[in-house]
Amino acid sequence: MTIQQKIQNLRDELNSHNYNYYVLDNASISDFEFDIKLKELAKLEEENPLFFDANSPTQRVGGAITKNFDTITHLNRMYSLDNSYSKEDLLDWEKRIQKVLGTTEIEYTCELKYDGASINLTYENGQFVKAVTRGDGFQGDEVTNNIRTIKSIPLTLKQDFLENFEMRGEIILPLAGFYKMNEERVLNGEEEYRNPRNTASGSLKLQDSAEVAKRPLDCLLYQVVTSERKYKTHFKSLEAARNTGFKVPETIKLAKSIDEVFQFVNYWDTNRHNLPYETDGIVIKVNNLQQQEELGYTAKAPRWAIAYKFKAEQVATVLNEITYQVGRTGAITPVANLAPVQLAGTTVKRASLHNADQIEKLDIRINDTVFVEKGGEIIPKIIAVDFTKRPDSSQPTLYAANCPECNAKLVRTTGDAKHYCPNEFGCAPQITGRIQHFISRKAMDIDGLGGETVDLLRKEGLVQNYADLYDLKVAQIIPLERMAEKSAQNVISGIEKSKEIPFEKVLFALGIRFVGETVAKKLAKHFKTIDKLMTASFEELINVDEIGDRIAQSIIDFSSDLSNIQLIERLKSYGLQLEVSAESLENQTNKLAGQVFVVSGVFYQMSRNELKKAIEDNGGKVSSSISKKTNFIVAGDNMGPSKLTKAQDLEIPIITEQDFIEKIQ
Ligand code: AMP
Ligand code: ZN
Repeated sequence: MTIQQKIQNLRDELNSHNYNYYVLDNASISDFEFDIKLKELAKLEEENPLFFDANSPTQRVGGAITKNFDTITHLNRMYSLDNSYSKEDLLDWEKRIQKVLGTTEIEYTCELKYDGASINLTYENGQFVKAVTRGDGFQGDEVTNNIRTIKSIPLTLKQDFLENFEMRGEIILPLAGFYKMNEERVLNGEEEYRNPRNTASGSLKLQDSAEVAKRPLDCLLYQVVTSERKYKTHFKSLEAARNTGFKVPETIKLAKSIDEVFQFVNYWDTNRHNLPYETDGIVIKVNNLQQQEELGYTAKAPRWAIAYKFKAEQVATVLNEITYQVGRTGAITPVANLAPVQLAGTTVKRASLHNADQIEKLDIRINDTVFVEKGGEIIPKIIAVDFTKRPDSSQPTLYAANCPECNAKLVRTTGDAKHYCPNEFGCAPQITGRIQHFISRKAMDIDGLGGETVDLLRKEGLVQNYADLYDLKVAQIIPLERMAEKSAQNVISGIEKSKEIPFEKVLFALGIRFVGETVAKKLAKHFKTIDKLMTASFEELINVDEIGDRIAQSIIDFSSDLSNIQLIERLKSYGLQLEVSAESLENQTNKLAGQVFVVSGVFYQMSRNELKKAIEDNGGKVSSSISKKTNFIVAGDNMGPSKLTKAQDLEIPIITEQDFIEKIQ
């Protein structure tokens, strides 16, 4: 036997013991024997550095230090999940997807919603290559070295599964391990960790992977992401993943109907407390992958899945004070300052009160005993007052009349629940907030300039608005706290680069109230230049698809403010993109104006999303379900049979991908 074979055999053997112990929870060797074999392997590897392998079981102990975690863009976006709180919500969801799919025959996979930190694992040719946190869903931090120390995650796969794929899962800290860690901390005189979820997600960002290796973390997998069409259903793909070595919980279940989903919900609503780890709900997914593809995604979440949140835990505490926060748009948010209380594993001191109506509706007063609720990730909220405990001296709450930051008199327009500070250009959090929004990733995406720096720049009197950014000089930035020549240079080049950001994003960056990302896109596409938008009448504005009174009025208000007009003129003079570029105009036509399309099936020349974009770029509309208003159905392979019948019933022409391409050429 060659040295290489010997090394390989030891690795295989240790991998399989690891698997038995950490995935199957069924030890096949004593700790002592395992250690001897591991040492033997480590020695052989040390003597034969040629055969080094980052995925060897010897690497699980960690030791690699990561100073800065690289930001990595996800190949496939990591979405959130829409939430539901009742059976009615679930029935509504069922109705919505039945309508889109045009069938009532839908199977579901039911899973628990594991409460930890999400992770994306990349495998190539049977080897683990990289792990990235969810981050903002578009990009996350690469934490490969730390993840490698989690023993239940296979580093080399046992058998043929898929060639290249990603596994999505949740890094959790089981309760027993959490309590044990806390016992040790108490013994060492250290502060206890608050809850398993935060400890798990904090662990991923530790610099020393050897520290991570010591923590009893685990990884539960819930999704296979691949372009290979080997498995037809989500459930089958998870079973196959389990067979190849991944820890896919045995609690997952196939449901043939929404009634069976309810049975799953009922069962776990009470039995979840017996699980070795925390869960904060249930995730229900359409099982058929073809149907998943047909349902697609909203801006935030898949349409083919929904989370069902267990009823949140409640606790009573005393309201000490109400303070007020000012947001970037001047919106005021009242905050309840509470006597600290333990709730769902964390200490709660503050809760949002939303607006004046909320305070009035609940009749919340200082010194009241209130019920606070918290479910999963949701910020704690006050749900009711315990009137039996109200002190006799109690007085109704008077809502703030003046801005806590600049003392301006607050205003409230009819129809708006929120109070606003109208001192747009003189109120510190508004100034800073607007600039922070302007530079954020989805807006001008200015690198090197964090929120704190913006606040410093404002305090130093260097910027009062976003146009001022473009007058900044390196020499002005260097003296700021935590800045140096290099970082200052980065800020300036980041600002310079933002001049290439396309119009739709600039429009979003301006921070016009109610003009979010999607609205900005619609407006940019319709008006094409900032001048046309700012001179548009109310009627012209509301005639744009999906632009209502509220948005239109907000744009009119913005455009008629002299300060804003001056700001825009300055932005123009610096060379920002304040109109749609000739390039993107080139691909846009009105060929499909007024036509409504439904897209169904699998396509080859372009992806489903490209197809939809092409429809919109050419002036058409995409709808998700077939109705009398539909003009064409673009059908790919495997178009749903019920959709086909419906199209035939309504006599709607069905065209192929090729027909469509010819139409727009
Ligand atoms: P949310 O963060 O509330 O939008 O929920 C989405 C997150 O739930 C995902 O990013 C996952 O980390 C987590 N999650 C936990 N269990 C599951 C599961 N079985 N399926 C999908 N996501 C899950
Ligand atoms: Zn103010």
